[in-house]
Amino acid sequence: AKVTRFGPSPTGFVHIGGVYVAMIDRAVAHATGGRYLVRVEDTDQSRLVEGALEQFDRAFEHFGISPDEGDLPTPDGGRATVGDYGPYRQSERSRIYLTYVRELLRQGKAYLCFATKEELAEITEAQQRAKLPTGYYGRWALWRDASADDVRAKLAAGVPYVVRFRAEARPGQRVRFRDVIRGELEHEANRNDVVILKSSDQEPRLPTYHFAHAVDDHLMRVNLVIRGEEWISSVPLHLQLFEALGFEPPEYAHIAPLTKQEGGGKRKLSKRKDPEASVDFYIEAGYPVPAVHYYLRGLANGRLAELPMEQSLAEPIRLDELGLAGPLVDLVKLEDISADYIATLPGREILDQVRRWAATYDQELAAVLEAEPDLALRALAVEREGVPNPRKDLRKWSDFRPVYGFFFPQLFQLVDDPTDARFGGLAPELVRTLAADFADHYQPLEDPQEWFEQVRDLAARHGFARSTKEYKRDPDAYPGSIREAAQVIRVALTGSTRSPDMFQVARALGPDEVLRRVRALT
Ligand code: GLU
Repeated sequence: AKVTRFGPSPTGFVHIGGVYVAMIDRAVAHATGGRYLVRVEDTDQSRLVEGALEQFDRAFEHFGISPDEGDLPTPDGGRATVGDYGPYRQSERSRIYLTYVRELLRQGKAYLCFATKEELAEITEAQQRAKLPTGYYGRWALWRDASADDVRAKLAAGVPYVVRFRAEARPGQRVRFRDVIRGELEHEANRNDVVILKSSDQEPRLPTYHFAHAVDDHLMRVNLVIRGEEWISSVPLHLQLFEALGFEPPEYAHIAPLTKQEGGGKRKLSKRKDPEASVDFYIEAGYPVPAVHYYLRGLANGRLAELPMEQSLAEPIRLDELGLAGPLVDLVKLEDISADYIATLPGREILDQVRRWAATYDQELAAVLEAEPDLALRALAVEREGVPNPRKDLRKWSDFRPVYGFFFPQLFQLVDDPTDARFGGLAPELVRTLAADFADHYQPLEDPQEWFEQVRDLAARHGFARSTKEYKRDPDAYPGSIREAAQVIRVALTGSTRSPDMFQVARALGPDEVLRRVRALT
């Protein structure tokens, strides 16, 4: 069984790539009967953002990837530790890390370093001048072999210090390791004596990410680390840390980042430049969760994208089938998937989802739907003309208002000006008379054929041609064809020159509302 973990840093932005990785963490753990935990990596206190954890909670909950273990939100708005390996927040584990730092110090695998900022800056400059790799290694590692007396003197004088790891690697040494996705890899061994415990003049005493994650992955019995490929270059250091601590290292799977098409090439989806990098983008627009899952699974593994949605969602994600190239995020594709998915849902389900979405993101719409659930269901039942699949124009919940909003009297702007451009230049007097005549003769009908006849008779009474063909033969003889006459009614009822089938729209609106809208023009 695999125990996986996701290690978000609460810096105030939840990247869709995080949901992608967490989804894979969860799927892989569960496929093996294992567990997936979330560990908050907040050792860099200067980058913490208020409310950032809640953003993660919300994203996990929304996308149905809540962890099996972690410091999780409770229904009463608090947090509780779920799982036996907590606390799952690094800032609350400082005593645990200190124990292991002391152990490494005792064994001589770590040492105190009193180098000042100025000294460190000088070292870096000198290395850059000499075109050497920068870092704290070899003869540049000032305190690596310091005498006990020198250390004692500094301590006695109260000089602040950090603890550094004593990296054991010869110049030019290489390490090999295996990545579940990439196979055997070879890298230069780490020679850098990295800081493992931050400065003694800071409270609380916190370790660096590298050290904390090694201790935590061991203590939390994580045996498979799935993370972004930007961490591959840290593996040599991480393996050294596991070894020094006497821990069995986990397996590693480094995942290619989500990318975006730009010009001829592609680049990493950027938190600064791309709105779709943020999970809030998907939540606020109201993409249905199963569609997003299906889409992300397809990015992880093209084979899953080729299966029908239900089947794809049931298939395990296999790490060894993950691509090496950064998958392209393409919103057009996502919208297609989403539209197909919504088209399979019954109206009642769509209404529920739209209401849930609107409760947060469009309260006016939420109130309208609350007041008019039956009208909403009738509207959702109206097929769009010429489109075999009735609801493809609904690609996300926020599309409901622009697509179906006109059905609701509360959201509809009456068309009361006969000179309106939507009437295509018909004489205003004619628009007015057509509307009045339509209203006077209006019969709520049960048969689309009768509706058509009603409009045809109306057009004929006012001298419109019976067909476009007839009209085109002698345009001066008619004000237009039956189409132009019908258009007046269409605009009056829907506010648009393009709309679903008029007979069905009129039936959904009901006779009173039909008459109210048409009479507005008279
Ligand atoms: N906290 C790290 C990050 O925010 C996670 C690194 C890891 O998964 O080991 O990217």
